[in-house]
Amino acid sequence: MGIVDEALAAGEPLLTCAWCGEDFERENRMGHPATYCSHAHRQRAYEARRMARDTGISYDKAAAIVRRRWLPVRIHPGFDKARIYK
Ligand SMILES: [Zn+2]
Repeated sequence: MGIVDEALAAGEPLLTCAWCGEDFERENRMGHPATYCSHAHRQRAYEARRMARDTGISYDKAAAIVRRRWLPVRIHPGFDKARIYK
């Protein structure tokens, strides 16, 4: 049972990450509700906001650029392995 299933079983409301759109369980019940599923995603959203402010492009455009920048980091490990060990 994953954390999402467990949260549903316990009747916990799931939150949706404002960066990746994934549902996640609210870890800390104190304070204001979390907006992001992880520290990394909070950081990326912050980067995008800052880029939008500094360059004058829209937040959506800045977010797309930040996403592209981070995407290869997540994809590459499996990719390289498949190529090398095939
Ligand atoms: Zn996220």
